[in-house]
Amino acid sequence: MSLPALRALRGRYPSAHIAILAKPWVGDLYGREPFCDELIAYSPKSLGEKWAAGKALRARGFDMAILLQNAFEAALVAYATRIPERIGYARDGRSLLLTKAVPVPKPGAHERFYYLELLHRAGILDHMPESPAIRLDGAAAARAAGLERFAALEMGEVIVGVSPGAAYGSAKRWLPERFAESASRVALDLGARVAIFGSAAERDVCEEVARALTVPGHNFAGQTSLGEYIELAAACRLYLTNDSGPMHIASALGLPTVAVFGATNHVTTGPTGPLARVIRENVECSPCLKRECPIDHRCMTRVSAERVALTALELLK
Ligand code: SF4
Repeated sequence: MSLPALRALRGRYPSAHIAILAKPWVGDLYGREPFCDELIAYSPKSLGEKWAAGKALRARGFDMAILLQNAFEAALVAYATRIPERIGYARDGRSLLLTKAVPVPKPGAHERFYYLELLHRAGILDHMPESPAIRLDGAAAARAAGLERFAALEMGEVIVGVSPGAAYGSAKRWLPERFAESASRVALDLGARVAIFGSAAERDVCEEVARALTVPGHNFAGQTSLGEYIELAAACRLYLTNDSGPMHIASALGLPTVAVFGATNHVTTGPTGPLARVIRENVECSPCLKRECPIDHRCMTRVSAERVALTALELLK
């Protein structure tokens, strides 16, 4: 969600040195992008270590800290850096630690505007960028690396990617057997293999999909870093997913992406890529934003495998 704001920041300061302080697992998302000159890994645990991490940055002489993170901790670390301009939203009791505490906008717009709006309200951007889509400019390089990885596994060049998990909770998950059915149907049509992606915690649901496939596939759950995952996803021909981080990555890579939505709001958190399509049922309780469904999960059970497969094939045309 922060990618459009970071791209806009680069547009505003074309020759600035932009360093991104990020937890190591997420750093790979930024590393290939033109807005990123430097990645600084941030992984302290105790409060003392966090303060020390900020203090260690004092000598770098940064001019401005922009907080694309809402927590009090982010403001505390920025304060410890003594960077003269510290800009972030006025929330979580952190206004006194910032030099520009920006009023939080009302909810309702797509979440990527939350970050763009911070730059706008802080006076850094005087207008919204013409193309605020969530986009990964490093897609071509990632695709080349991903094709090599698939070739090393003898998976061929035509791959259908599937992400059947959703870290937030089971309410967001479409049925594993339907992912398998729709992916198999599309893969058969394309002469493709299926690659299933997920975190280590999602291994079981990924294995369920793998077992139900009727075409050759490979389960990558728990076997990739974020950087490796981005490369493999970039090399897919098509992507089937729930509303999840992988959905945004596939869509940002410009892939034809079919996303099944139910419990969450596709208007505020939907994919923004040019070839992304949302499938959802108009059930009265959606979006509930719950982690677990308290009733019968009708928002998901009413979405057929055939509908997802046909939407994917139409999108490919
Ligand atoms: S309450 Fe409704 S929208 Fe929420 S998960 Fe259950 S069926 Fe879906």
